[in-house]
Amino acid sequence: MLSLHTSPLAQPGSGDSGGLNVYVREVASALAHAGLECTTFTRRTRADQPDVLQVEPGYRVVHVDAGAHDLPKEALPSVLGEFGDAVIDHVKNDFPADIVHANYFLSGLVAHRIKHELELPFVTTFHTLAKVKAEGGDVESQWRHDAEAEIVGCADAICVNCSEEEHQFRRLYGNPPGRIEIVSPAVEHAFFAPGDRGGARRALELPEDVPVLLFVGRIQPLKGPDVAVQALAALGRPDALLLVVGGASGVEGEAEMAHLHRLAADLGVSGQVRFAPPQPHHILSTYYRAADAVVVPSRSESFGLVALEASACGVPVVASAVGGLLTLVDHGETGYLVPDRDPDLFAHYLREIVDHPGHAAALGRRAAERATRYTWSFAAARLRRLYTDVGVRQQVSCGA
Ligand code: UDP
Repeated sequence: MLSLHTSPLAQPGSGDSGGLNVYVREVASALAHAGLECTTFTRRTRADQPDVLQVEPGYRVVHVDAGAHDLPKEALPSVLGEFGDAVIDHVKNDFPADIVHANYFLSGLVAHRIKHELELPFVTTFHTLAKVKAEGGDVESQWRHDAEAEIVGCADAICVNCSEEEHQFRRLYGNPPGRIEIVSPAVEHAFFAPGDRGGARRALELPEDVPVLLFVGRIQPLKGPDVAVQALAALGRPDALLLVVGGASGVEGEAEMAHLHRLAADLGVSGQVRFAPPQPHHILSTYYRAADAVVVPSRSESFGLVALEASACGVPVVASAVGGLLTLVDHGETGYLVPDRDPDLFAHYLREIVDHPGHAAALGRRAAERATRYTWSFAAARLRRLYTDVGVRQQVSCGA
């Protein structure tokens, strides 16, 4: 597996680290549990990272030198050649491979080269797509659009997170020569399960008798944390709290963080918004359990692990009606979907939850029940079958 731009071992919730990191770590681990040997290659970003880290039996992470440790994401295209050389060297000499699986388009470009040089079947998971982001108002470079077209033209299989993403993909990119496979991300039910709200609030030193709303994620405009603050203001409950868990991400991250503080002050809710730095994955369950509702106001979302994790903890989600969130939230059954990211409508549905505890509990119960469909072992089983299939079929060829 290639995860060039961010390590599966990084703390998710800020910078470039989020759902992709969780996905790579969890599926690799689940594949190893099923008996596959799995190696993830990632770029070294600190001098103290070991060359090879054996995470558990059958799963290792290899740190590859490619460019300065602190290279910004925007400069990564310049080190793809160096990264690819090192991976090819490792595969030839240390960790032989039967398949190359890329995560994100930067890894996809490297994997495309590896496919041709080592004659390996090539599976890719984009996680985000430039054309989908563009529809949400986030414009990416022409270079990225061309890179994605190159990958789509030669991947033997393209993994998408859900049927909604498959439809989106076919609408925007056409029918690819390789197959499209739905491999849904999942949730670790050992961590994320319903629990005692009072206990969670005491652990986080939160009052027990006020509405608590939660936003979890990388702080950047795409994730819409400003809509969460506006929805809190529109809720009109001076006793309500909004917890914002996560750190700045991307070139606009720091500005967005400053914007949130200003916005909360302008709307007169500064005292009701509490910021927390990124939390280790397993501690996050305490935050979910403490909340009355989790707000996911993203502009676009290829899946939305936060929505699934909240659901698994039995907490209703109020999410924007985009991307994977359409698959994860059953409107009126497990939470609510809001068109056009309208803060007043977010507030309306949040009111339904905080003003009607019996109804909220029923939403949460159904959400937890629905979340049991998603397990990492099932995701790994889909991947194992896919790897076997693409390994024996005629491979796609772009003629490169
Ligand atoms: N996350 C975390 N700690 C934090 C904030 C986020 O572990 O403080 C994790 C969260 O549990 C989820 C992932 O980061 O698994 C975010 O995934 P999501 O699909 O919601 O968004 P992405 O970052 O992929 O856009």
